[in-house]
Order: sequence, then C-alpha cells, then structure tokens
Amino acid sequence: MQRSFSLLTFVFVPVLAFGQAAGPESLVEQYRADADRLIDAALADSFAYDRLAFMTDTYGPRISGSQALEDAIDWMLDEMNEDGLENVRGEDVMVPRWVRGEETLTLLEPRVADLRILGLGGTIGTSPTGVTAEVLVVNSYDDLTANADKAVGKIILYNNAEWTGYDTTYRRSGAVRAAQVGAVGSLIRSVGPVSMYTPHTGASSYADDVVKIPHAAVTIEDASMMQRMQDRGQKIVVRLNMDDVTLPDALSRNVIGEIVGSEFPDEVVVFGGHIDSWDVGVGAMDDGGGVVAAWEALRLMKELGLRPRRTIRVIAWTNEENGSRGANAYKNAYLDQIENHILGIESDGGVFKPSGFGFSGSDAAFNLLTEIGHLLDRIDSGTITKGGGGADIGPLMREGMPGMGLRVDRTEYFWYHHSPADTMDKLDPHEMGLCVATMAVMAYVVADMETRLPR
Ligand SMILES: [Zn+2]
Repeated sequence: MQRSFSLLTFVFVPVLAFGQAAGPESLVEQYRADADRLIDAALADSFAYDRLAFMTDTYGPRISGSQALEDAIDWMLDEMNEDGLENVRGEDVMVPRWVRGEETLTLLEPRVADLRILGLGGTIGTSPTGVTAEVLVVNSYDDLTANADKAVGKIILYNNAEWTGYDTTYRRSGAVRAAQVGAVGSLIRSVGPVSMYTPHTGASSYADDVVKIPHAAVTIEDASMMQRMQDRGQKIVVRLNMDDVTLPDALSRNVIGEIVGSEFPDEVVVFGGHIDSWDVGVGAMDDGGGVVAAWEALRLMKELGLRPRRTIRVIAWTNEENGSRGANAYKNAYLDQIENHILGIESDGGVFKPSGFGFSGSDAAFNLLTEIGHLLDRIDSGTITKGGGGADIGPLMREGMPGMGLRVDRTEYFWYHHSPADTMDKLDPHEMGLCVATMAVMAYVVADMETRLPR
C-alpha cells in the first residue's frame, strides 16, 4: 500500500499542482491535443507551399482587372470545394483596372543610358513622345517646398535616402505634391532597404483638383546616382515614356470558404489575406503566401475532423493592392453581422518564420489570446503583442471587430515586396508550414473555446 501510495503521489501531485496553478480547465490543457495535431499536420509536408507554387507558376501575377486574377479565383473555388470546405463562394466586387504599358526612362544628360523604372499603380501615361525635362532631386516635402521656384517644368525625384521602415508617403502622394509646384513628372526612390537594381511598384493616388502628372519608381541605385550628380552640380536631363492606362472597372470576387460552427454557426472568425497582387513578380510573398496559409489551416481542420463551435471563414480578399475594394465590399455586405464577427486574423506580411500576432482589441481579449499563444510555445510562434491588424480586416476593425495580424521575421520582406523579385524561391516550405500551424491553432481555439472572445 505504502509503495503504491508513493507512486500515486509521485505521478499525480505535479499534475494537480499544475492544474491548480493554471485552473482546472485552462485553455492550454483543454486544447493541447488538438493544437499538437494541427501543428504536426502543418509541418508534416509541404502541401501549402506546393499549392502556392502551383498557383503562382500557373496563373502568375494577379493584378486587379486581369484575367489571371479571375482564373486563379476560379481555380481556388474549385480547389476549396475539392477540399470539402463549406459554403464556398465568390462574392462579386467591382475593382479598378489599371494596366501597365511600356515604360522607359532615358537619361540624356550627363550621359545617355536606359534607367529601369516601374510606374506606380494608377499613374497616367505620357504622350507618345514622352516628357523630356530636367530632374530636381529633393529629400522631403519640406525640401520640395523650399525649392518650389526651381521645380516648375522639372521632373521631381524624391530621394528619401534613409530607410526607416515601410513608408509610402512619396509613393502615395508625391505626384500631387510635385504637380502643385508646377513639376511635369514625379519619380520616387523605390520603397525598400536594399536593391539589386529592382524597382518596386505600389499604390499611388491623384487629387481631383490637381493636374495629373506621370509617377514612377526608379531603383535605389539610380536614385542615389542622380543625387550624386545633383550634389556635384551636374545637370540631369531625362525622357520619361509611359503607356500606362486606367480602363473601366472590372468584375472580380472575394473568395470565401468555411467550416460552419457546430454550436454558434452565426458567430464567425474571419481570416485570410488578399488574392490579388501587383503585376510584377508573381505575388508569392504578397500575398499569395498569406492567403494560401490561411486556406491550408482550414483544410487541415477539415482533414483532422476538427469542427469548432463557431464558424471559421477563410477569405481571399480581392483588390487589396490598388483600391481595397474587396475589403470594403465585404464589410458593407456583412455590416449587420459585425457584432458576430468574433475576431479577424490577417496574414499580409509574408510567410516567413512566424513569432506570433499583433492584436488590437480589449485587454480581456488580449489576455485570453496570450494564453492561447502558449499552445504555440513548441514552435516559438505564440507571442501576442499589442497593436496589429491588416489592410483587409481594417474596415471590419473600424466597426468594432477585434483584429490581429500574423507577425513574421520581416528581415527580407521589403527587399522583394512589390518588385519583380516577389517569387516562390524567396519562401521556405518549413517556414510556411509554421505560419499555417500558427494561424490554424489561433483560429481554431478562438472559434471553439467556451468563452466568446470579449470585445
Ligand atoms: Zn499585401
């Protein structure tokens, strides 16, 4: 008796002690087995990576208004049905249709050279003869204002040389500010920390009451070169030719697939990323990886027979890059159900090694999510930090839905972002599997736990 009592004490006391410390029904204890199954399944093979590779190899870049985007959407709908996801559907959205034409920037003085450029999304084209003008390099809007008298008739180059993180200031509104001081064209230093002579595109905009001038990105190399030329007093003359056009809006779709909740089907965790991309590269990082990872998380739940109490809805939003029409259309269509949108989870920062999530919502919710994060300790991806979300869940968050964005190692993200180099080889199958596991565990537990995530 004594012996077996000792054994019982030895075996069960630590368990009881842990149970008492964390509460007998701690989320970690309750979901450990399911979380481990999801993690193991996500890391067992490279299904998600292979699926993303198929999509990007087969359909290529998926800019709004393109046939490639719609073909990728058709494929995704078929595949989601094959996976056994529920309520698979495409929801119509009208999207902008900006089409890149031929684009050249020819340096004429102090020497003749072809400089690589990428028109920024939404830019107008030039006349067939192009715009020939002297270049004025500025480092900020203040610098532009201070040199406004020299800007008339020039092409402005914004060369904000110090990389301090992703900043789209000049990309977004550089053309408007340059036109306001009489410039005839606008160039920006590509938004990125390093370059291998790769210009980066991205969204830009015009103002209704300001004349529209062409707007393009040059490489970091050429921005630095023109800065040096100006600094030593050399006259810089270029000819800018762009055939870019904006056509009438086109029909696209948000892609949706679900696992319907067993107890509270009307309560929804939404997660995903965007299916559209820029027209250069293949949008492997931005954001094919994010969208396929979320989709894979749902497919694994289905495969493992995990049906949460609440509905999980994966969404591949359309037109994130140059309009956010998909995100806004979804928000408008589901506004009357916003109270039942429990949480939004977005992945739009690349599927590199994940560390956790940035969360925006109440402290009570933050504490619960932090607890859930411990289920990811074994893959070191469960750290919840305050502040986070994403462009596609943004409209829902502004209506009160708590939101979180997957956080990953972003060391290399902006090297390739929005450039011809956003291709599959930049991603790693294992790291993508870790993203799938991280998103799957978080979405599943929030959707299934007894407590509804507090607002
Ligand atoms: Zn993106």
